[in-house]
Amino acid sequence: MRRIGRSDQHISRFLHHRLRSLEKGEPISLPIVSASKFYLPGDTDAPFQYGRSGSPTWEAVESKIEVLDEAPSLLFASGMAALSALFFATLKSGDTVVVPEDGYFATRKLLDEFIAPLGIRVIMVPTAKLSQAPMDAVDLVLVETPSNPGLDVCDLNEVVSRAHSAGSLVAVDNTTVTSMLQRPFDFGADIVVSSDTKSMSGHSDIVLGHLSTVDGDIYERAKAWRTLAGGIPAPFEAWLLDRGLATLEIRLERMCSSAQAIAARLANDQRIQSVRYPGLPHDPSHSLALRQMSHFGFLIGLTLKDEDAAEAFLSASHGIINSTSFGGVHTSAERRARWGEPVDAGFVRLSVGIEPMESVWAAIEAGLSA
Ligand SMILES: *Cc1c(COP(=O)(O)O)cnc(C)c1O
Repeated sequence: MRRIGRSDQHISRFLHHRLRSLEKGEPISLPIVSASKFYLPGDTDAPFQYGRSGSPTWEAVESKIEVLDEAPSLLFASGMAALSALFFATLKSGDTVVVPEDGYFATRKLLDEFIAPLGIRVIMVPTAKLSQAPMDAVDLVLVETPSNPGLDVCDLNEVVSRAHSAGSLVAVDNTTVTSMLQRPFDFGADIVVSSDTKSMSGHSDIVLGHLSTVDGDIYERAKAWRTLAGGIPAPFEAWLLDRGLATLEIRLERMCSSAQAIAARLANDQRIQSVRYPGLPHDPSHSLALRQMSHFGFLIGLTLKDEDAAEAFLSASHGIINSTSFGGVHTSAERRARWGEPVDAGFVRLSVGIEPMESVWAAIEAGLSA
């Protein structure tokens, strides 16, 4: 079986991040600093001044994510807040952005409804064709790989090399796999955005996001955007993310190995029309996934005959939570077309959790027998 892909040393450095700078007598666990005001006599050159511009709790979590992503990081109140910061920090009127046509629906809606009207050209390209998209006069390319929900993969090397030759920045939405499984900066990406609502936090109890970048100017712009737009995360949410991160690797290890085994069984099941999982040898994403991901993730796309078949599967697979979102400890699934997404009516996105694999399989089997 493929391992999660980061070295033991790197993972230990990530897990022990706080401990390495502890002074004697300080708590081992991360304190939650709930403060809008900080003591600030005289000059304003203190590390913290006001709760909208900085928080010791955010900063502690950001510096831990920096170890994982290998680039300075900023927390945001949601994945969408991180994406908004990306667009406002990098684009201006007259610019052009290329985004995946099959990526997260809210990203497309944000661009359509709020960014395009500011005079920014938005070009949508399917993920699988992104590496061949025209990039002349493009200012930013956003990649989502594997894409949510279709699980198509795009060639990061190719996109980055073509975008950079054309003078464009590349941002990767790394939500579906996290930097444990895919390291966009190794391929030359400039920016990583992530919804930490999903597997990063892992317990389906917070909405949070982050942006990491190797570009110092973009970092400062995104930080200024956060302070001025004001949609900031709460210290308690940041603390819950920190708690979730402690088990990220071990959760992903179980989730990914179960997903691989389940996808292989589903691929041979006559009751299903098609299965998408980048770890299946015949999957259209497989060869690229092998090159650029250390594991294939915990999301499986399955297409059943029609809406009724999918809904029957969802209501009979007891133990699999019928809910939106993904990446939590509990296995969950939903029919994506119910949101009006342009996918097959019988398409179900399955997010494999940390339960023992055979119990997840038993629930799937019950659903398919319905
Ligand atoms: C969920 C998701 C987002 C948005 O994140 P929120 O935390 O819900 O704001 C962005 N991109 C992808 C790929 C997602 O799955």
